[in-house]
Amino acid sequence: MNPGRKRLLLINPANTYRKGYLLRRESKQAPLGLGIVAALTPPEWSIKILDENFREFRFREAELVGITAVTASVNRAYEIAAIYREKGIPVVLGGIHGSSMPDEAIRFVDSVVIGEAEGSWNRLLDDFQAGRLQKTYTSGLSDMKSAPPARHDLFHPGYFFASIQTSRGCPMDCEFCSVPAFNGHQYRLRDPQSVVDEIASVPHQLLYFVDDNIIGYNKAAEDHAAAVFEGMIRRNLKKEWFAQASLNIIEKPELLKLAKRSGCRMLLIGIEAENAEALKDSNKKVNLRLGVDNYKKAFRMVHREGIAVLGAFIYGMDSDTTTSLKNRTKYILSSSVDVTQASVMTPLPGTRLFEKFKKEDRLLCHDFPKDWQHFHFSDVVFNPARMTPKELAESTNHAYRQICSMNTIRMKFLRTFWNTRSLRSAVWAWNSNLNYRSVGMERPSEYRY
Ligand code: SF4
Repeated sequence: MNPGRKRLLLINPANTYRKGYLLRRESKQAPLGLGIVAALTPPEWSIKILDENFREFRFREAELVGITAVTASVNRAYEIAAIYREKGIPVVLGGIHGSSMPDEAIRFVDSVVIGEAEGSWNRLLDDFQAGRLQKTYTSGLSDMKSAPPARHDLFHPGYFFASIQTSRGCPMDCEFCSVPAFNGHQYRLRDPQSVVDEIASVPHQLLYFVDDNIIGYNKAAEDHAAAVFEGMIRRNLKKEWFAQASLNIIEKPELLKLAKRSGCRMLLIGIEAENAEALKDSNKKVNLRLGVDNYKKAFRMVHREGIAVLGAFIYGMDSDTTTSLKNRTKYILSSSVDVTQASVMTPLPGTRLFEKFKKEDRLLCHDFPKDWQHFHFSDVVFNPARMTPKELAESTNHAYRQICSMNTIRMKFLRTFWNTRSLRSAVWAWNSNLNYRSVGMERPSEYRY
């Protein structure tokens, strides 16, 4: 290390209670937020990322520690923070949990970055250098137009995928989702040229676009996605990628073609439920507008471009019963969805759903922050409206056993290959199904009293 440089240690803690996503290398995602914070940090700092996705925490010296955390990993973040604070090393917490629960977080760290770091990180570093670190730093939503590319060179080399962000924000308002609260309702779009440069700079052949919806819901977002895809095609980058999108993809066939040509292998589509009543429960407007009857057509359109469909479903909407959940599982198995993400409804702090359950006294967990470790989309942490928590946990376990069985995964592989006529997309779907199998079968869902 250059003796004149201060050391900034950035830490990505892992949920130590449930490690499903860490069991396979293919399902690990680089801590992009830390890479962006590193990119914002002036060169007089020496930076390291300590990443529990690959190696359990071991103490390293630093002058300043920055930890990121989602709700499920925040306990671990607080444990690590205590080790540094005991030695008098200041700890800053950033990320979505600290932004939603700053009053809780400040009891465990020295400073909390609320919201996006772009508008406050350099102010925080200046204050730290001047010995006047504040308890909280808040800034508005950043202007993504000039967002710097993340410092991919600092991530662990074991990541299969490079994580890339092209936009932030979502104009929708699904009750369970924390994106609008954290990133706002307005789409903010990065310069497409800078995105393509970043893609060209990473050594990975496989990319994951972390955007909540790569194609967006308006013309500007659609043009932006097209500019990124065209840039990738023009520069012949030959990357393969996966991203999240919405059902409105069926209204943009030309964009779908460009996505394919730029290397798209799989799209995650938020299906949530196969019946309108459940969609109404969660205010999933885009699916309601397009209609559950159009799901089949949507999957067919995506398949026609050689792209696999990763369908995201939720178990535990207010209208769900044990019978309707059996039907959801049957639907998943018989539909042409290639990969299934089946999540237990989870009221993340900062969402309208969390506030609703709190008001209705339906949360089963009360020992916070310890109980946040159960907010990982597999345990039942609330009282469902039309069944018991135990019934919801059992329905979900039953679904996992069927959806994640090796017989189902083998059958889906063949079907994906048949529907997409793409061996690569079928292999992507196969690997993703094995990832979800690790998550779902590692530990059965529990319910908390
Ligand atoms: S679930 Fe998707 S569409 Fe709904 S608010 Fe979140 S990001 Fe937007």
